[in-house]
Amino acid sequence: MHAAAVATRHNLRMNDPAQSASGSAQSASQDDVLILGGGLAGLTLALELRQRFPDISVRVLERRTHPVPRAAHKVGESTVEIGAHYFCNVLGLREHLETAQVRKFGFRFFFSEGRSDFQNVTELGVSRVLPTPSWQLDRGTFENYLGERARAHGVVLEDGCTVRAIALGAGDALHEVRCERGGETRVLRARWLIDASGRAGLLKRQLGLAEENDHPIGAAWFRLDAKLELDGWGDAEWRARCVPPERWRSTNHLCGPGYWVWLIPLAGGAHSVGIVADPQAHPIESFNTFERALTWLRVHQPALAHTVESRRDSLLDFAYLRRVSYGCRQVFSAQRWALTGEAGVFLDPFYSPGSDFIAMGNHYIVELIARDRGRQPLAAHAEIFQGLYFSFYRNMLSLYQGQYALFGNAQVMPIKVTWDYTYYWGVLCPLGIGGRLTDLSLLSELRPQLEAAQALNLTLQKFFRDWHAVAAAHNPPVFLDQQKLDWFAQLNADLHGRFDDAQARARLRANVELLHALAGTIADLAAAQCPSLDVSALRAAAATRARPVLFAPAGERSGFAPAQSAHAAVDADHLPIDV
Ligand SMILES: Cc1cc2nc3c(=O)[nH]c(=O)nc-3n(C[C@H](O)[C@H](O)[C@H](O)COP(=O)(O)OP(=O)(O)OC[C@H]3O[C@@H](n4cnc5c(N)ncnc54)[C@H](O)[C@@H]3O)c2cc1C
Repeated sequence: MHAAAVATRHNLRMNDPAQSASGSAQSASQDDVLILGGGLAGLTLALELRQRFPDISVRVLERRTHPVPRAAHKVGESTVEIGAHYFCNVLGLREHLETAQVRKFGFRFFFSEGRSDFQNVTELGVSRVLPTPSWQLDRGTFENYLGERARAHGVVLEDGCTVRAIALGAGDALHEVRCERGGETRVLRARWLIDASGRAGLLKRQLGLAEENDHPIGAAWFRLDAKLELDGWGDAEWRARCVPPERWRSTNHLCGPGYWVWLIPLAGGAHSVGIVADPQAHPIESFNTFERALTWLRVHQPALAHTVESRRDSLLDFAYLRRVSYGCRQVFSAQRWALTGEAGVFLDPFYSPGSDFIAMGNHYIVELIARDRGRQPLAAHAEIFQGLYFSFYRNMLSLYQGQYALFGNAQVMPIKVTWDYTYYWGVLCPLGIGGRLTDLSLLSELRPQLEAAQALNLTLQKFFRDWHAVAAAHNPPVFLDQQKLDWFAQLNADLHGRFDDAQARARLRANVELLHALAGTIADLAAAQCPSLDVSALRAAAATRARPVLFAPAGERSGFAPAQSAHAAVDADHLPIDV
């Protein structure tokens, strides 16, 4: 607790303009949980709380007025497996996702720096949609739906309501918030206070919890009210590599040295485009207006520049952030407050982890509130949950930090992306999707394996940088189809398997084994390409484990090395899973 930064309730009342202006304070309401900010994190938390505890009173204060605009509302449009599972299965929003949003065709990466001939560059992605679903979200449509659903579940959502001041209650005292709505100022009280105010970081700022990290990327983005027909960027044979030929449904990454560009389709026919870059390679000033972004795209991604230019009449918005990523000193407190979503930490949009961290943060907050309702002590659990949450943040940050230089490397990057995904599906997802985030017995029993996986990941991230430093620039016209890596497709299929305690433990152990074995495959690939590379650490980690198949080395790539995996190919229509 940062006592110095916590206003007293006395101060808050004294400074309340409603009291001095009208001479009478508005009567204060009292709730179990008061959520500051009704964006993605705040509305989903409110819904989860009401679904879990039907008798809990939850109030959300949101500055914007509902309904919010469609398409050009907020970024955070691409979901990955943990966030998608949270929306679909934990909150029960499958019908909305299936009918009002776009089912995603996985991630896709093109090494298309300076190129318009997409069929002649390396492409990484899947040829068919893998079984565990994820969606592209029109954030306006989604937040309007979440708002309606939250209200239907008994959440008091006050839109058009701006939070002006916060006073945390000491000891067992209620917290107080002063807010303004429609010219009226009120003081609200609650047992729990949740900061879900996104980058406004209301409580974070007040308590001095903001923390920079060593990942200074910047981003700019815009929306066009037009579908970008990127499936027309290659010939018929290229189009037919994907079944159905709908690459536009993917989160497409156009990659180059020091940057990547996202293309995300939105339901209703709009498209979101974003440039994310390391400022050392691409200063934000080179793309922080629409005209500058277009000029920049003409040099780095000419096919996209051409397509955008032809649809510039449909431009909906443009925004940029000089600095995207940051940390936070504390997100959960035994004093009955917490931070969720971008009000706490934010990593990097490259693998779309924002919704995942909302899912995980909300899960921990709900568990802390559950303990409080059961009159159980909070301090130890708040600290443990925060330690876990921050360890996920630090581990995932290592996938991005210092790595932008190699984003344009068509040799190293497909291997890194496949490694990163194996780590995410193999370690984080079984915890996040498998309902094990608060299973302290499992986490403590498997601590050696989880720590070994973390250490191995750090070794690999450094190795990718070393490999990039010596790898020849080679960008062959191949499709690296991850769907054909049986073990990789199986990892995805397993994400929604139902596992009892023993199976969950066995699965995590097997996935950590797989990571070690994959390190061996990567060592063999890299050594074949760059004999001067020191691959001894990776080979030692892999030891004598059977190597999973990866893509063939440079020059030999006709697509894949022949399959040797023990797994049968995955048939999405015949999986014993609940997706
Ligand atoms: C460039 C970029 C790209 C991204 N891409 C992705 C992606 O592809 N996938 C992904 O999962 N995530 C992505 N993210 C992260 C994503 O944006 C966040 O995960 C998500 O939007 C955070 O939701 P939130 O509820 O925390 O914040 P928000 O959605 O911003 O909600 C905060 C709410 O608080 C309200 N508020 C603020 N101040 C006050 C106040 N004083 N009083 C009342 N209300 C207030 C605001 O109006 C707002 O509605 C991206 C982020 C960036 C920066």
